[in-house]
Amino acid sequence: MKGSFIKNLHKAFATGLFLLGLSSTASYFAIRESYSRAEWVKHTEQVKGQLEALCSYLKDAETGVRGYMLTGAPVTLAPFHGSYKHVSDTFNSLAILTKDNKEQQSTLPKLRSLIQVRYQILHDHIEDKRVRNRVDSLRVFKGKAVMDSIRTTISQMQQHEDLLLKRREELWSTYKSLSPLLIILIAITGAITAYYFCKQLKITYFRNVQLQKILQQEKIDTDKRIKLIEDISQQVSLGNYQLRLQEKESDVLGRLAASLNRMTASLEYSFNALKELMVKKDEFVSIAAHELKTPLTSIKAYLQFIGRVRLESEEGRRIYPFVSKANLQVNKLTTIIRDLLDVTRINEGGLPLQLSEFSIREAILEVSDELFHSIKTHELFIEGEPDIRVNADKFRIEQVLINLITNAVKYSPERNKVIAEVIQIEGYVKVSIKDFGIGIPKDQLPLIFERYFRVEQTSQNFAGLGLGLYISNGIVRKHGGEMGVNSTPGEGSVFWFTLPTINVDNSHKS
Ligand code: ADP
Repeated sequence: MKGSFIKNLHKAFATGLFLLGLSSTASYFAIRESYSRAEWVKHTEQVKGQLEALCSYLKDAETGVRGYMLTGAPVTLAPFHGSYKHVSDTFNSLAILTKDNKEQQSTLPKLRSLIQVRYQILHDHIEDKRVRNRVDSLRVFKGKAVMDSIRTTISQMQQHEDLLLKRREELWSTYKSLSPLLIILIAITGAITAYYFCKQLKITYFRNVQLQKILQQEKIDTDKRIKLIEDISQQVSLGNYQLRLQEKESDVLGRLAASLNRMTASLEYSFNALKELMVKKDEFVSIAAHELKTPLTSIKAYLQFIGRVRLESEEGRRIYPFVSKANLQVNKLTTIIRDLLDVTRINEGGLPLQLSEFSIREAILEVSDELFHSIKTHELFIEGEPDIRVNADKFRIEQVLINLITNAVKYSPERNKVIAEVIQIEGYVKVSIKDFGIGIPKDQLPLIFERYFRVEQTSQNFAGLGLGLYISNGIVRKHGGEMGVNSTPGEGSVFWFTLPTINVDNSHKS
């Protein structure tokens, strides 16, 4: 479209240039001809004037000779003597003026010889008078005849000049009448051509404008479709697998949307299958934990009984360390089963809370006493505000603290320091447990509170089930608080949670 627009422009320009050239040429010739006409008139006048002069000089010569013959006085010959030079000059000037006129040029030699003959006769008259003092009448007649011939020749030449001028005038008048016609014709052609190209340009211009509008609309539509694909992809990445794109087109975007739909459908299918599997797994874990709880309680009771019996025998002292170790393993098993049961309770939303008022700092101190009785590798520093009280399930909050502090110790084997900080923020207490250990990669942070999740790179080096943070988060949320983490790999992590403080409206937290 752009090509035809430029092509039309070029055509219009070339035609305009051609017509301009044509009208300029016609005007040039018209002007030149009108100038020539004046020149021609002047030229004819000049030639005719010279011929007249020639005649007049010859008459002067004749008059001078006639006077001499009548009076015999030499002084009367003055016009005769002066005329010859004038005649000769005039003749030369005539030769120059008619040099591009072949006919006149061919007559000039004849005229020259006639003039010479005439002068010769006049000269002979003078000689006759001077020497013999008589007039030869025969020569007089002959002279008259030569003079008549000269006059006739001059008259013919003058007529010829008039004829030439007439012919030229006729030619000029043809030019004069044709030039305006030609110019008008060119102007009309120019106007028609201009109108035609103007129309063509207008058509091309409107076509271009229309095409531009269509392209703009197409761009808007494409942008909309791309935005929709982006939005749906974003939603899918957030876990909304049931969304689909309604694309009817079969272009690139249509095909892209179709493959996104297929991918989402396949993800939805896998996700649902996984969900079903998780439900089944949770059911199994719940049943297994409940089933294990009773025999474990019995085993624990028997071991406590054996531990309490003071065996005096050698055999008794020998088996005591094994009883103690068994106790330890049973305690671990109890913790695992307790965690599994907690997971079930959190999933079902039925985690019961026993609320009481207590100081957070005191809870931290109690947990610290309990834990650091056996942990010798690290030291816990408590910072922040000394007495912030909460109304919460102390056992459960201590469970959260134990989990965060043991994790801080477990995942910073090369360090010996853990910091617990307590601060108050607008009706909430914020408790942070900071370590200087291995840290957590950024891409794993969003998954850290999922059940059974463990950081892949470190899971082989540290024992665990990946349930502690899930349970802790569940407990904190049940209290109306929030839990979060900031971490830098190789530098350490800060796990924090908030709880509503006493006498503060906590309705803005879920
Ligand atoms: P467990 O510690 O039993 O694996 P958790 O739910 O307590 O389970 O923790 C989940 C995962 O989070 C851990 O496996 C570990 O990869 C990562 N993690 C937890 N706390 C820390 C910490 N303080 N520093 C580094 N990684 C941690």
